[in-house]
Amino acid sequence: MKTALIMGISGQDGALLAEHLLKQGYKVSGTSRDHEVGNFWRLEALGIRDRVTLTSAVLSDFRSVLGALQQTMPDEVYNLAGQTSVGMSFLYPVETFDSILIGTMNILECLRFLGKKIRFYNAGSSECFGNTREPANEETPFRPRSPYATAKAAAHYAVSNYREAYGIFGCTGILFNHESPLRPARFVTQKIVSAASRIAAGSQERLCLGNLKVCRDWGWAPEYVRAMWLMLQGDKPVDLVVASGEEHSLEEFVARVFGAFDLNWRDHVVVDESLFRPSDIEHSCGNASRALAELGWRPETLFSGVVEKLVAAARNKSA
Ligand code: NDP
Repeated sequence: MKTALIMGISGQDGALLAEHLLKQGYKVSGTSRDHEVGNFWRLEALGIRDRVTLTSAVLSDFRSVLGALQQTMPDEVYNLAGQTSVGMSFLYPVETFDSILIGTMNILECLRFLGKKIRFYNAGSSECFGNTREPANEETPFRPRSPYATAKAAAHYAVSNYREAYGIFGCTGILFNHESPLRPARFVTQKIVSAASRIAAGSQERLCLGNLKVCRDWGWAPEYVRAMWLMLQGDKPVDLVVASGEEHSLEEFVARVFGAFDLNWRDHVVVDESLFRPSDIEHSCGNASRALAELGWRPETLFSGVVEKLVAAARNKSA
C-alpha cells in the first residue's frame, strides 16, 4: 500500500485529491496549519474525514515540515497549501511569498535531507504566464502579474532546480483555473453561483464584481487532481500544463449562471471598479497537449459542463 502526504488537505484540491488517492488504495495523511481547530468540511462533504490521518504543519517553518514528513515517510508528497487568492496577494504579498515560496523550499530541503525517494508534486499556476496571446504550453515564458504569480513562478523554478541539482523527483503542475462546489466562498466563481442561487430564491441583494472582461480557462477540479496524481506515476518527473483549452470571459460565466436560474444578470450585478486588481490578466488559456501525450490525460468537462455542474450543486444545496 502506498502512502501519500497532502500538504493543505483542507482545501478544494487537497480534499478531492485525498478522495482520489483513497480510491487508488493509498493510505492518506494530510496537513493543516492547526489540525485541532482546522475546518475540514470538504473532507466531511466527501465522506472521507475518518479515512485520512490529519496532522499540523506550517509550511513556512522548516522543523514543522520536517516533522510531518518524518512522521509519515510517504511515497508521495503533494504541496497544495498556501495563500491561494490572487486578489489577496496584493494585500498580503509577504505572507503570500512566505507560504508559497518558503513553503516549497522547506519541502525541497526536507526531501534533500531525508534522502528517501519521495516523489513530490508542487502546485504551480497558470497565473505565472500572465496574459496568454495564444494557449500557453510548457515552452511559454512566464510573465507573472501579481505577487501570487511571482511567488508561484519562483517556487516552480526552485522545484526544477532541485530536480536538476539533486535528482529529486519533483514535478510542478501548471494548472489553469479549476472549479467545484468545494471552492472557497471568496473565489469569484463560487461567489457568482451562490449569489445567483440566493437571488433566484428571492434575495434582493446586488452582486458586486470586478472586471467582467477578463477571460479564463475553467476546468473541473476532480479531473485536475487526477492529473496531479498521474504526474507522479511516470518514469521521469515532468512539469505539465493542465487546462481545458477553452477561454471564456467572466461576463459569459455570469450570464450563463444567472441564465441557468432564469435570471437576467444585468438586473442583479454591479461592476465595482474598487474590486479591479492593480494589475490583472486579460486573457488566460492553456494548451494541455503534452499532458495528453505524457499522461494520457485530457479534460472531459469543458466550460458549459463546469457551469452546469456548479449550478446543479447549488440547486441541490438550496433544495
Ligand atoms: P484552497 O485555497 O482551497 O486551499 C489551500 C489550503 O492551504 C487551505 O485549505 C489552507 O489550509 C492552506 N492555507 C491557506 N492560506 C495559507 C497560508 N497563508 N499559509 C499556509 N497555508 C495556507 O486552494 P486549492 O485547493 O484551490 O488549490 C491548491 C493549490 O493549487 C494551491 O497551491 C493553489 O494556489 C494552486 N492552484 C489552484 C488553482 C485552482 O483553480 N483551484 C489553479 C492553479 C493553482 P489550512 O487552513 O487547513 O491550513
